[in-house]
Amino acid sequence: MTRVYNFSAGPAILPSEVLQRARDEMLDWNGSGMSVMEMSHRGMEFMSIAVKAETDLRALLAIPDNYRVLFLQGGASSQFSMVPINLLAGKTGADYLLTGDWSKKAVSEAKRFTKVNLVADTTASKFTTVPTAESLKFDPNAAYCHYTPNETIVGVEFPYIPDSGPVPLVADMSSTILSRPLDVSKFGVIYAGAQKNIGPAGLTIVIVREDLLGKALPNMPVMFDYKIHADNESMYNTPPTYAWYLAGLVFEWLQQQGGLEGMAKINQAKAETLYAAIDKSDFYSNPVEKSCRSLMNVPFVLANAELDSAFLAGADKNGLTTLKGHRSVGGMRASIYNAMPLAGVQALVDYMAEFERTQG
Ligand code: PMP
Repeated sequence: MTRVYNFSAGPAILPSEVLQRARDEMLDWNGSGMSVMEMSHRGMEFMSIAVKAETDLRALLAIPDNYRVLFLQGGASSQFSMVPINLLAGKTGADYLLTGDWSKKAVSEAKRFTKVNLVADTTASKFTTVPTAESLKFDPNAAYCHYTPNETIVGVEFPYIPDSGPVPLVADMSSTILSRPLDVSKFGVIYAGAQKNIGPAGLTIVIVREDLLGKALPNMPVMFDYKIHADNESMYNTPPTYAWYLAGLVFEWLQQQGGLEGMAKINQAKAETLYAAIDKSDFYSNPVEKSCRSLMNVPFVLANAELDSAFLAGADKNGLTTLKGHRSVGGMRASIYNAMPLAGVQALVDYMAEFERTQG
């Protein structure tokens, strides 16, 4: 069996050790005689899996006790609506930082519910930069302030956490959660689709400060109310049980990597290796301002775009897959989430050098 180095932006590479363990436990989880997929979500076995996953996630991120962790369906995209539905709480506007394609989607969804105040808008730079902390003009009456710490498509990342004062800060961490330590207490809500750094698609994790619960807009679908899910331990309806289990295996794997401090060092080394290879050559380039380049998603273009398909075909042959950039940006994008080993990045960098030597 050959495993490729999969640079997909998501669903993305998972640790081989996790997949092997899932394989070993596939038909008979822990002597239960069944697969986790076949278990009742309310049975003792699955309950123990669910509790352990949450406990491990809490330990990894040092989540304070006054935060609830929800294991939901619906993807990060559902959170674009659930955030205004749950946090507006009688206020008439919300602050948003528009710094890429995903925050743009969050903004347009929020506009269905409320007035949006753009605290920052980097459209003019084609999303190749983030605003300085000093330039952010928060509205003290905003219900909350939403931003996207890492923009998956353009590969731009905030090197700081915006300070919205007493206004709850909401972060879409889909493509950066668990990549390094995080001070959860700075946030009102953190959410993330699982399919990049957590596990398989189908699971969405929401970390919400307790005092923000119970204020959902009236007459909204019950499934969109954080409090319903919190009160029912994310089992108001059937949760994505298998994805939850796999996320739990990923959390155990993260502990074995030295937790998030250990992971951060590996991620730093991977990103440095790749950006150094791009920067030292005139053949490859990355348009993002150096101070806010993403550690997780690294877009790059070839000096001659006519060579794009040859580059991708050669990469595929070398077991380096899914490097095509997002259709809105073009070129290439290497997503180097937690599960991508340094050896994968090294193999990519070696291939890039060889391609430049023979085709450049
Ligand atoms: N936010 C970000 C930052 C993303 O990268 C993505 C998916 N690529 C989404 C939101 C949408 O996530 P989902 O497909 O889980 O709705």
